[in-house]
Amino acid sequence: MNTFDLVVIGAGPAGGHCARLLAKIGHKVLLVERYKDFNRNSFSSAGTPLATLKQFNLPNEVVGSFWNRLVIVTSNKQGVWESDANQGCVLDFTKLREFLANEVKANGGEVWMGSRYVDHCEQSNGILVTIKNNLTNESIKVVSRVLVDATGANRAITCRKGKPRSKLTTGTGVEYLVRVNDEAYDRNAKALTFLLGHKWMPKGYSWIFPMGKNHLKIGAGIWNEEHKLVKEVKPLKYYIELLLKEYVKPDDYEILDIHGETLRYSRGLQDTYTQGKAIAIGDTVSTVNLLGGEGIRQAMSSSQIATKYIDQFLKGDRLDFNGYREEMHSIFLTKWKMSESLSSRVYIEGADTLVDKVVSYLKPMKLEDIVRVLFYYEFDKVSKGLGNYIWRKLTSKLRSLVSLISNLFKI
Ligand SMILES: Cc1cc2nc3c(=O)[nH]c(=O)nc-3n(C[C@H](O)[C@H](O)[C@H](O)COP(=O)(O)OP(=O)(O)OC[C@H]3O[C@@H](n4cnc5c(N)ncnc54)[C@H](O)[C@@H]3O)c2cc1C
Repeated sequence: MNTFDLVVIGAGPAGGHCARLLAKIGHKVLLVERYKDFNRNSFSSAGTPLATLKQFNLPNEVVGSFWNRLVIVTSNKQGVWESDANQGCVLDFTKLREFLANEVKANGGEVWMGSRYVDHCEQSNGILVTIKNNLTNESIKVVSRVLVDATGANRAITCRKGKPRSKLTTGTGVEYLVRVNDEAYDRNAKALTFLLGHKWMPKGYSWIFPMGKNHLKIGAGIWNEEHKLVKEVKPLKYYIELLLKEYVKPDDYEILDIHGETLRYSRGLQDTYTQGKAIAIGDTVSTVNLLGGEGIRQAMSSSQIATKYIDQFLKGDRLDFNGYREEMHSIFLTKWKMSESLSSRVYIEGADTLVDKVVSYLKPMKLEDIVRVLFYYEFDKVSKGLGNYIWRKLTSKLRSLVSLISNLFKI
């Protein structure tokens, strides 16, 4: 029987990074992924701020394109912010996960692709994990001291079939990888473009991210909840094609791939973080941000936090993972609750004009500051923008009042 210190199920950013870190410090690691290669489910648009590369020690080879411009288009307005310096990148999601899995192997770990977690039970000598090879249908049993649930929205271990599940908010995204002509690419190069508002994508947003020469990621995402005002929403395909035809307007294009995924998020972060010798990371514990759907960086951060608890457990310095949930909550809970209520306002309750106002609030801000709002959730920056907006409106109203009084009294 194969034995490991640690079996990580799911080779997404969370699982790959966790397995990589623990293999690097000498633990015997097995990383298990249900798909046979990483091209199969390359669902993520993978836009991220520049700091991600340094924070997780990622090489430029996992980058599709860098960006130094942000464009927000609503039904009635457009905002463009630009910086001289790169502010972030669009990762190649396939290459990112391949890189992490290769690092696991380079550090002595094993990676089983095309293999699926089926079940586990805790025994006196460790956890007996049943894994099925999807290609041969063969069942394999391994023993591990720790089991990591990194199965993302699936929560395959912590919410096993037949166990009660907490109510989850779901959002679905579909994305086309499109090859376009030079002119259409150059117009959208080096920019993250988001389209919001009822015309472009009610109950969510659509986007265009550059992925290297002549390749654009064009997608739309929707929160699967009832909108207070919009009653009819068309299929996601309609909004992606609308964006392609009315905004990107390429003279010539070819759709190379269509992919998509459903995110499942627990409001108030009520997921199961630990269960005996099993510990959950990444989207399994709702690390994805509900407002922007950004989750790669947070999934990898959760791996770094969990890694500390797992390493101490494997070294015999602790008997359980007590404290992990509290540490995760101390980092995420307050900001994520704020994102939950903002995203409900913007995507599920708001009138079309709400997002026009957001663009106006943000207009006087520098791109660097907007990055801090969108990616670091420093919402106080928006209130400063809001202050400037209100001040501009007030002073313009005052000016009109003074000119009205002057005209009335012919001063
Ligand atoms: C359309 C879309 C666009 C997005 N765009 C962005 C973006 O621009 N920037 C950003 O930062 N984030 C983005 N995200 C979110 C981000 O991709 C996720 O938050 C992130 O991938 C979470 O990482 P994870 O490792 O926790 O889970 P996942 O990436 O979901 O990885 C889980 C892995 O587990 C495997 N698995 C599941 N069940 C089993 C099983 N039983 N056995 C074996 N393996 C299993 C899956 O195949 C998968 O590979 C986007 C998400 C979607 C859906």
